[in-house]
Amino acid sequence: MSITDLLERAAGGARLSFDEGVRLYEEAPLHELGAAAHARRMSLFPTDDVTYVIDTTINYTNVCNVHCTFCAFFRPERHGEGYTMSHDDVVSRVKWAADQGATQIMIQGGVNPALRLEWFERLFRRVALEFPSIDLHSLSVSEIVGLATVEETTTLEILRRLRAAGMKSLPGAGAEILVERVRKRISARKVKPEQWLGVMREAQSLGMPTTATMMFGSIETHAERIAHLDAVRRLQDETHGFTAFIPWYYVPFKTPLKGRESTGLEYLRVLAISRLYLDNVPHLQASWLTPGLKMGQLALLYGCDDMGGTILEERVVHDAGSTNEATRKQLEELIIGAGFRPVIRDTYWNLRPEMALATAG
Ligand code: SF4
Repeated sequence: MSITDLLERAAGGARLSFDEGVRLYEEAPLHELGAAAHARRMSLFPTDDVTYVIDTTINYTNVCNVHCTFCAFFRPERHGEGYTMSHDDVVSRVKWAADQGATQIMIQGGVNPALRLEWFERLFRRVALEFPSIDLHSLSVSEIVGLATVEETTTLEILRRLRAAGMKSLPGAGAEILVERVRKRISARKVKPEQWLGVMREAQSLGMPTTATMMFGSIETHAERIAHLDAVRRLQDETHGFTAFIPWYYVPFKTPLKGRESTGLEYLRVLAISRLYLDNVPHLQASWLTPGLKMGQLALLYGCDDMGGTILEERVVHDAGSTNEATRKQLEELIIGAGFRPVIRDTYWNLRPEMALATAG
């Protein structure tokens, strides 16, 4: 089949095989790939709405025993620069974000074995009680597995207890590339691909919405990028529990792994193939934090229907050398500048048009 025919089929919603995905990724002209992805996005969501969420990320600890080579954020246990915020400190940051209109808080950090489950339960209960309109879209599979190890229990039990304490949703962080060869090189002590998928399956079985991410641009091949999409697509066939897919690229500047930064064109290519290959994941999110706001704007023409969040405060990607940040006004202006209409959503993708800024008018 010709590339043109393949693109036409994929834009119409036909499922791509693994080999077809690799072929399109490697051979399709970028703009044609993007046009097919945008056509698919417009047929899934035939509206000019582009959503975003007002949120913040609070990196509560940088102490971590996983030691990923692509990470410039963590400090090993007993390192002089290690920190763990107090509950009061986290709560004051939640309050600041709530005062800015945030509806979602991502409390995420390293895998710090000094923190017990009870520490998180008390924190989440307090946030849920003091800020009932905030959704805790927090932690990651690595932190859940770390807690299960410390508590000598199952990840399902950890998720149950955290959910009871107020955690609403599990972000897709820590997926990197769900291929064992890659993980052995960049995050050998992190959860295995099957374990990442298994914890996601458990969270979804409890009714928690989840997202899936992909950190590309470290050492993986093109085929391994498609293998990652394939792993997400297979789990989604089974559970339908992922609300969105969020590809972002590795920032190499201050990490032990080093390497080169992906190009903007590579980012757009990954977005477009993600929209076409993941025929069963509804939303594709522009992760503007690493490629920058202007690439985030272009992403809206390469398959994305969501701009992610305002990310009022974030350290992990920042510490690796990324300096991007955005206000609500900037995000809305970018969306409008691309010819779309900004609409605020919450963690569950409920639209909150009443919260839009005047710029949206
Ligand atoms: S990416 Fe996460 S798990 Fe890996 S070292 Fe950094 S903080 Fe730890």
